[in-house]
Amino acid sequence: MKCPKCGEETGENAKYCSRCGFNLKADSVEVLKIRIDECRHDIYQGFIIMGLGFVPLILAFWFRVTGFLRELFFLYVLVVGGSLLILLGVLAMCISTHAKAKLLKQLES
Ligand SMILES: [Zn+2]
Repeated sequence: MKCPKCGEETGENAKYCSRCGFNLKADSVEVLKIRIDECRHDIYQGFIIMGLGFVPLILAFWFRVTGFLRELFFLYVLVVGGSLLILLGVLAMCISTHAKAKLLKQLES
């Protein structure tokens, strides 16, 4: 996480910024806003992973239709790999969305 005051990169569990001494554990509005921003970034990353998962699926479909790849085993690998990526991406998005909603609630209170 980045220190809201000076921008120094701090450890995830750091209590105070090593550079300026800013209290990172305080549930201040700035800290919450930074955490929400990080969640947004994670949601975006999950979305990218999910999107990447469609590439092998489309490839497998295309190979099957064109008969370019007749080995079924490779098609299965592509389909399973793509599906796993999509699952992983959706899971990451769900977790981050949940975390973001929790932070937003904290911000409101
Ligand atoms: Zn700092």
